[in-house]
Amino acid sequence: MTTFTGTTPRHVQHREPDVTPRLQEFIQRDSAVLSPTFTRSYPFAMSHGRGTEVWDVEGRRFLDFTSGIAVTSTGHAHPRVVKAIQQQAEKFLHMAGMDFYYEVQTALAERLVAITPLGEPGQVFFTNSGTESNEAAIKLARHHTGRPRFIAFLRSFHGRTLGSLGFTSSKPAQRRGFFPLVDGVSHVPYADPYRPVLAMDGFVDYGERVVDYIEHTIFQTIAPADEVAGILLEPIQGEGGYVVPTPGFLPALRALCDRHGILLIVDEVQTGIGRTGRWWGYEHFGVQPDIVTCAKGIASGMPLGAMIARRDVMTWGPGAHGNTFGGNPISCAAALATLDVIEEEGLLDNAAAMGSYMMDCLAEIQPKHPSIGDVRGKGLMVGVDFVIDRATKEPAREWRDAIVAEAFGFGLLILGAGPSTIRLIPPLVVNKAEIDEAIETLDRTITRVEELNR
Ligand code: PLP
Repeated sequence: MTTFTGTTPRHVQHREPDVTPRLQEFIQRDSAVLSPTFTRSYPFAMSHGRGTEVWDVEGRRFLDFTSGIAVTSTGHAHPRVVKAIQQQAEKFLHMAGMDFYYEVQTALAERLVAITPLGEPGQVFFTNSGTESNEAAIKLARHHTGRPRFIAFLRSFHGRTLGSLGFTSSKPAQRRGFFPLVDGVSHVPYADPYRPVLAMDGFVDYGERVVDYIEHTIFQTIAPADEVAGILLEPIQGEGGYVVPTPGFLPALRALCDRHGILLIVDEVQTGIGRTGRWWGYEHFGVQPDIVTCAKGIASGMPLGAMIARRDVMTWGPGAHGNTFGGNPISCAAALATLDVIEEEGLLDNAAAMGSYMMDCLAEIQPKHPSIGDVRGKGLMVGVDFVIDRATKEPAREWRDAIVAEAFGFGLLILGAGPSTIRLIPPLVVNKAEIDEAIETLDRTITRVEELNR
């Protein structure tokens, strides 16, 4: 056995992962030719997968509680999705959906409009990724309102292309070296009830306090409201640490936008397509946005994104925005099959039920482990936040990283999010037995890290 040289820091002790010489050779080949920006926390090299289970090239089985970062919504290689891809591939692979007509693209847009409550009928612009969906939303908001500025939130993640990157603010490494970014974006604190940074000043709901800060501080100083085109936010922050905002946050933002003619843009790239137990994360908060962006889980793993806006907001004309691959027919066929599977297999209900079961299981192990500061989430978007001390809530970043790496040795794939959170995002098909196995493994993993660092 040789050693994997990953990116996990070594201040908190954990076991070196098992890496056979063959796997180590493969990892070396990979790092010679792939960008050094990749962040591999442990040496998982995929062979194949089915549902919530995956196997590595050495034949070892793992439970996948990452879903390839919230992408394989119907599980790995769902037979109906695979069949839809095969059937479409036999007909045609590509035909430039911006320039020509084909039915799968139209049918998928109809389905998306039908499941996306916007108060009025919507229209769809297809993309290939989350960042591109946000780029489309940002451009549409400027084009439609004729205004230049935006409000975004600290610890948000909206993508890494130069437009979206001006909004992304979850880690310094994502921005360092890339200045100047898109101008006119003012960042404010997110409505994080666990680690609030603004004084409550008499407000009961912290989200309402944040919105008051936007209106009475930001609009009155650096970003006049009549210059603001849109407010872009994740209805639950993903990369920033799985932060569920207070119940009053989105309604107060909606009211603020209405008062000032600003567009409310909801980034559902990670929260969308059933992840939280509803089609969209915003549906938990009783509001309707003007623009919704999505990608990740929409096509179970095929690259596809969408920007959905109310028809009266989609006021741009031919040639104002476009791309070559958006609405690729194979991706659209996979997305239609994904929506069918979610509906016919009752996966929204399953996500809600399995998510609350997982939160209950985590609540049971939390008292044993003083490093677990908070457990939060909605549906199958669950975060476990590790702290140095429950009273100060100081983030335990390296502790979290050690747990992520150690879990790999026990056969569980998990990933971090934000300064000190582990995210648990299995496919929406996950069952109780798999959750039991994952939480038992996580419990054993934390115990092992505790023992190694006594
Ligand atoms: N928006 C959110 C909320 C995300 O979580 C992500 C990716 O993690 C993105 C946008 C960017 O998506 P992509 O990596 O497909 O560009």
